[in-house]
Amino acid sequence: MVIRAFNFRKYKAPLIVLLIIAISITGYFAFFKRSSTQLYSKQYKKIAGQCTHYDIYADFNPENKSINAVQTVRYKNNTNTTLNELYFYLYPNAFKNEDMTPFPGEEFSRAYPNGFDPGYIEINYIKAGEEELDFKLNDIYLQVPLPSKGLKQGREISLEISFKVQIPNCLGRFGYGEKTFNICNWYPILAVYDENGWNLDPYYAIGDPFYSESSIYQVTIEAPKDFIIASTGEQVEVKDKDDTKKIWTIETGLVRDFAWTASSDYKIASTTVDGIKIYSYYFHEGGGKDALKSAAESIRFYNRYFGKYPYENYSVAAADFYIGGMEYPNLVLIDRTLYGGSFLEYIVVHETAHQWWYGLVGSNQVKEAWLDEGLTEYSTIMFLENKYGKQGKQAYDDIVKSRYHFFELSNPLDFRVLRALNEFEGWKDYDALVYARGAMVFGEIREEVGDKTFQKVMSRYLEEYIYRNATTEDLIRLWEKETNNTIDRCFFNKMLNIMPDDEKENISAA
Ligand SMILES: [Zn+2]
Repeated sequence: MVIRAFNFRKYKAPLIVLLIIAISITGYFAFFKRSSTQLYSKQYKKIAGQCTHYDIYADFNPENKSINAVQTVRYKNNTNTTLNELYFYLYPNAFKNEDMTPFPGEEFSRAYPNGFDPGYIEINYIKAGEEELDFKLNDIYLQVPLPSKGLKQGREISLEISFKVQIPNCLGRFGYGEKTFNICNWYPILAVYDENGWNLDPYYAIGDPFYSESSIYQVTIEAPKDFIIASTGEQVEVKDKDDTKKIWTIETGLVRDFAWTASSDYKIASTTVDGIKIYSYYFHEGGGKDALKSAAESIRFYNRYFGKYPYENYSVAAADFYIGGMEYPNLVLIDRTLYGGSFLEYIVVHETAHQWWYGLVGSNQVKEAWLDEGLTEYSTIMFLENKYGKQGKQAYDDIVKSRYHFFELSNPLDFRVLRALNEFEGWKDYDALVYARGAMVFGEIREEVGDKTFQKVMSRYLEEYIYRNATTEDLIRLWEKETNNTIDRCFFNKMLNIMPDDEKENISAA
């Protein structure tokens, strides 16, 4: 996500055009001719052979602002224990009560310009085969006790979940405004079971409080004929159902969520980069083309620097979304009021970088938000540096370093970067520590080891953790191994402001 606006106009230079031409001519390698199914095929096969499959049929009714859906979830128990229950998140229920909405209090009127409007999800039934299962609803969690003696390690279960979603008049990730429906975090999605057991966290008002595993989706959406849908995955077929409705059939590769936006006013522009189809869904003519250009340029840059984006397409969708930008697999939402403004490039590039750091390499965004945000922010800076040269490089000082130093000057008590979302006071310390200091971790490493080694190790990080979830610990170990401890744990402790245990004790005793 991007939450911060600033003026980037001064970094634009006439050199841009020459640079793009130069990259276009020299940057084409045989590597990019390979089809996406061949890329990372070893990792793909391993995960795809055991991942969860979601098959969702959704009937979208924009007039009632509702969706009626049936979802089949095929889950294989890859944990090392028998599971007696499964947990799903029901994120729409975070939008149910006025006093519990997932927005900071001071942003309430921006999220609900027409006043509060409830959004929620209702479960009609859950079945395993013909057997209807009991379930428990608790706030945003759905607990499904499993039949017989639970699900043994390595065994599979298929659940059918029927549900109804009510979409609120809200300009957040889940809601509708004047032009778009933002249908994100909208269906029952499995929580992650890891070494800590089931991860059940609240829908915090700051950060992107999500943590999920790569899965394969097949989604069918029935929508009124005049609506255009931008979505995760590949829209393999769009056909008429009758005189009033269309049926959209969508299939995905390994992705960690499925999101979509819908509008009856969308215009579409598209282009192709390295065999990847890039789409811009927009309302503002100039801005729509600019967003497409930024998406194409950044996909091209990250393809060459970190490793290729392995999907068929990528979409940038203008949305009634007040928070700037938000990343989902193959799809990002951008506040439509930013189109035509100088902040658009930065925000599109940032969300595009998330396709690598969040999309391909996931992480627990509740416990370690810095890991994807810091790397995404630094990847954005690298794009600007590559595109604008010296002026782009200046962005590192102006955007990243100064943000953190300004925070330092405010004399904060807590400098820790690596902490859970609920341990931040608000957007201010979150922004300075997670985005700015997080980006500085990577900036300092690159300065220390040089661009070549940085590229080698970060490409390795992608290859090693693609389609999986990585942790800060994984990143530290990788850097220690790949640089023979030139970049070691002490370096990360210093950059992440991790206090040694003894110091911590002294402070708490004081
Ligand atoms: Zn972000």
